[in-house]
Amino acid sequence: MIEFDRFGDRPPSILIVDDSRVVREALRITLAKSGLPRTTAVETAARGLEVLNAPGADARFDLVITDLDMPDMSGIELCRQIKGRKKLAHIPVIFLTAKDDDSDLEAAFDAGASDFLRKPPKPVEMLARIRSALTLKYEMDRRLQRERELVKATEKLEDANRKLLNLSMIDGLTGVANRRMFDDTLEREWRRSQRAGESLALAMMDIDFFKRYNDGYGHQQGDLCLKAVAAAIEMSTVRPGDVVARYGGEEFAVLLPETELDGVAAVAERIRTNVETLRMRHKDSDVGDYITVSTGIAACVPAEGTGPQVIVAAADRAMYLAKENGRNRVEAAGD
Ligand code: GH3
Ligand code: MG
Ligand code: MG
Repeated sequence: MIEFDRFGDRPPSILIVDDSRVVREALRITLAKSGLPRTTAVETAARGLEVLNAPGADARFDLVITDLDMPDMSGIELCRQIKGRKKLAHIPVIFLTAKDDDSDLEAAFDAGASDFLRKPPKPVEMLARIRSALTLKYEMDRRLQRERELVKATEKLEDANRKLLNLSMIDGLTGVANRRMFDDTLEREWRRSQRAGESLALAMMDIDFFKRYNDGYGHQQGDLCLKAVAAAIEMSTVRPGDVVARYGGEEFAVLLPETELDGVAAVAERIRTNVETLRMRHKDSDVGDYITVSTGIAACVPAEGTGPQVIVAAADRAMYLAKENGRNRVEAAGD
């Protein structure tokens, strides 16, 4: 006897379509005796389609056994409709035919049939054919399931990659752009401004006497201070294209596309005031009682054949000028 219970996680479910009640009953009994008790028998192709189109039926039925000759709709038409429906196309169809006509068989296989049986079917032969069809179907089902799982896993991986990329672009402590993102953006903006003939501006700021702050208040408090200063800088920029980045330890950079020197001067002054008004006590500062920053600014229309290091060097020079000239101030790059 053929064992059917090893297919999938449930016994196979079969739809029988035949206009003869005698045939339907005979099939049902033979199948039940052979370990296939889950059968649904209907007498017309139209009713068969109705059953298959019911919600969840595509997952319920594993096989259709249909008569070829029926009064309303032929088994061939039924098969064509099943194969034409995306949700049902995976269900194999076996034909039963009393006729000994090759042209009918050809039409049946053209319509997508898996196999055929002569009426009256011999039980052993029928069960062997059923087993073949079911084996193939379960293989296909498993493959589809694996494909679905693979798609899901790929989506998850892409999501994780996006998150990772995002993380690698953002400074973990302060939440502003990190150095890598700054370098990438600067390179891109430099080229874009060059092409467009637009002015690009950069401000670089460095916390005043921050080593003493760390020494006096501890590294942890130093980190809190960095976060607060980053937030104050972020608060001082308004345009969506502006990029605030942590350039190094206690140095920040602000990149302002389509901005000239007076524009970046205004932003830098706003940053200076906003940091000052944080009122973060700094007992060891030589320039006051609170945390302050020194800022260097530069702006230019990128010249042909030059790279972004031009503007970084200029803003950096200006920042050291700000340090030299007394700190807690903004200086522009001289020529
Ligand atoms: P100046 O006014 O000339 O800028 O003096 P300064 O002390 O700020 O300059 P210096 O470059 O000597 O010191 C920078 C200090 O910033 C040294 C280092 O301990 C501190 N620092 C750099 N990165 C971090 C960080 O991630 N967390 C903390 N807490 N401190 C940092
Ligand atoms: Mg420094
Ligand atoms: Mg410093």
